[in-house]
Amino acid sequence: MTLVSMKEMLERAKKQRYAVGQFNVNGLSWVHAILDGAQEEHAPVIVAASDRLIDFLGGYRLVANMVRTLAEEKGITVPVALHLDHGKSVESCFRAIDAGFTSVMYDGSHDPIGINIRDTRKVVEYAMAHGVTVEAEVGTVGGMEDGLIGGISYADLGECVRIVRETGIDALAAALGSVHGKYVGEPKLGFAEMETISKAVGVPLVLHGASGIPTHQLHRAIELGHAKVNINTECVTVWSEQLRRTLAEDAETTEPRKILTPARDAIREAVREKIREFGSGGRADSAAAAPIEALESTGTQPLA
Ligand code: 13P
Repeated sequence: MTLVSMKEMLERAKKQRYAVGQFNVNGLSWVHAILDGAQEEHAPVIVAASDRLIDFLGGYRLVANMVRTLAEEKGITVPVALHLDHGKSVESCFRAIDAGFTSVMYDGSHDPIGINIRDTRKVVEYAMAHGVTVEAEVGTVGGMEDGLIGGISYADLGECVRIVRETGIDALAAALGSVHGKYVGEPKLGFAEMETISKAVGVPLVLHGASGIPTHQLHRAIELGHAKVNINTECVTVWSEQLRRTLAEDAETTEPRKILTPARDAIREAVREKIREFGSGGRADSAAAAPIEALESTGTQPLA
């Protein structure tokens, strides 16, 4: 099983107006669930490990070996990219690449744009030499602790154009009102800004904080150039809800397999549902090997 970079899958998705799901890993159950869900939906998929969780997960090499080996053991045939989410430093991106990640996000959004560009460029140079794709971020995605909607800093158009032109990144996370974690009330995405930025930068956009964004807003974001949509909260929510139910239903059980399997199944079903919502179900063949030109005659439909 060869893990692939995000390049072809995102370019195709953008062209055909669907999005590839990025699903974050929080343990072995997630790797099973994400791979099985994508395989069952015949969808390309991005398995992601947040840099913040790397030590908890066992380190870059363990994550890379776990994903690659499990995909082999399961006979997974859909294209799978292994992505470092919110890489905290240039060095951590290098370490992930050395370990076998096929894609990295360098998150320099907290720095002034000049520094963000300088550091992102270092990551791109190293990544390109290894056939690895790079995502960068401009603006600030809100966080769980923000409670939401206030305190989000929108991506600036000029900064988005600069970072794409001056670094050669493959995908851009332009923060436009989304929030990691749960939304309070209806998310307010900046669609007008999204359209302008998407047209100006040309590269596929990445939607962070997509859990809880209503389908019609997700579809609009995809129409406007988002080819990668990130999901974590919805999967951890169904996992923890199912765990609580299982333990409540059988308070005596101590068997890990009995406790953990329904929770893993709940993640898999959530992954399948999101894949269908993003329109990437059934796109595995087109996302993998066929040249882009050949795809245009396959009859695959953009999102309604
Ligand atoms: P959610 O937790 O809101 O789904 O966001 C996931 C994400 O953007 C990971 O980078």
